[in-house]
Amino acid sequence: MKQDLFSFTYLIATILFVFGLKGLSSPKTAMRGNLFAMIGMAIAIFATVLHPEVKNYTWIIAGFVIGGGIGTTLALRVQMTSMPELVAVLHSFVGLAAVGVAYGTYLAHQDHESVISLIEIGLGSVIGAITFTGSVVAFGKLKGSFGASPLIFKGQHYLNLLLGLIAFGLCAYFALTHDHLSFLLLSGIAAALGVLLVLPIGGADMPVVVSMLNSYSGWAASATGFTLNNQLLIATGALVGSSGAILSYIMCKAMNRSIISVVLGGFGGEAQAAAEGGGVAKVAKSSAYEDVAFMLENASSVIFVPGYGMAVAQAQHSIKELTQILADKGVSVKFAIHPVAGRMPGHMNVLLAEADIPYDLVFELDEINAEFAQCDVAFVIGANDIVNPDAKNNKTSPLYGMPILDCYKAKQVFVSKRSMKPGYAGVDNSLFYYDNCSLVFGDAKQSVEKISAALRGGH
Ligand code: NDP
Repeated sequence: MKQDLFSFTYLIATILFVFGLKGLSSPKTAMRGNLFAMIGMAIAIFATVLHPEVKNYTWIIAGFVIGGGIGTTLALRVQMTSMPELVAVLHSFVGLAAVGVAYGTYLAHQDHESVISLIEIGLGSVIGAITFTGSVVAFGKLKGSFGASPLIFKGQHYLNLLLGLIAFGLCAYFALTHDHLSFLLLSGIAAALGVLLVLPIGGADMPVVVSMLNSYSGWAASATGFTLNNQLLIATGALVGSSGAILSYIMCKAMNRSIISVVLGGFGGEAQAAAEGGGVAKVAKSSAYEDVAFMLENASSVIFVPGYGMAVAQAQHSIKELTQILADKGVSVKFAIHPVAGRMPGHMNVLLAEADIPYDLVFELDEINAEFAQCDVAFVIGANDIVNPDAKNNKTSPLYGMPILDCYKAKQVFVSKRSMKPGYAGVDNSLFYYDNCSLVFGDAKQSVEKISAALRGGH
């Protein structure tokens, strides 16, 4: 009877997680979605802690206090722009926990585990180890500790495939023979595989790695659920695993990459050495704030294109003010969001929502791209890779094939940035040298504020 009560409680928590995920599908319902997920998690934690099999609370309380303390401090301190690194670290913890649970369970019950249980333990360790080391490498790349550029060598896919097959083969051998060495070996090989899968990916393709590791961390949690015979962990892990897989698929489609090559590791680097252009000295124009203000107020349509630099400058509130001034002058204002703008999926949507920019002014790439050709001014604020025409026109560019926002088609393009430095992918942007493009140098927030001041004051 008691077991039924636990299963029922777990079911309620799972349903709340599903509603949570559903809520996250739109900015309008995201807060409610988060609330559902938080309530589900609170129920899940209480139910698990109260389970009769839990005999000793010392370790649980210690873990709760230490983990909760570190988690709260990190969450309070982390900059929005460093979220992907934090997410990568959290994924690595899930992977490490899965390996820890697999080893702990094996050591506690090694003599009376069934073949099925040993397969679960082995798989938990394989997926966990891949997630752990893959996430550590992703963290290093996102943080800039290892080069963000892809590391490619010949025969990479075959090596990864071979290692994967050996790891799963050892898993079967371990389950049939209880051989300790094969258990250790399979975790070691999976750990090496995690490194090899993520090392070859870099530059503008990193978002797909982050979402892919998100998916792996879900499957690792699910495998742990099988090991511990915990239905809630199985269901929650499957939700994270499958939503991460769907997100990876969507990101791959958005960036025109193949999901198979992402899973096997090593894609997007085919053209990495080229990209620098033909050696002709190119000159980019720059504009004063007053000139930008003049062009903006005389435009009938303006499309803002926010990117990572808007997040760094925290310019969203100033942009909201600028859009208000323009709207009051009768200018039509829209926002165009690229699927990998910023440093995490939905990054720009969150920032624009924070500044109360109405959702009906915000458009995804597919919805708005055709409008650039008719628009008077495209104002790029701290974006770079996502508006680089080389992604369309230059086969030697590492960005080649990634859909971009077609700003270059607008009558006039302004780009707010601080220097001539490249964006995340580390490649020059040919847009800056187009005749219709002019750079507005300076921190995005200050630039936008000065443009607003010019609009209020001068004209
Ligand atoms: P980019 O990184 O390509 O460019 C950012 C631009 O912002 C730079 O040109 C930089 O130039 C400028 N900038 C930085 N700080 C400021 C500031 N304070 N004021 C004004 N400008 C500033 O960003 P995009 O959004 O265009 O593209 C995102 C890139 O990140 C893509 O390559 C994507 O693949 C990758 N990525 C995306 C993830 C995601 O999930 N969305 C995750 C991981 C990577 P300067 O320094 O001269 O100011």
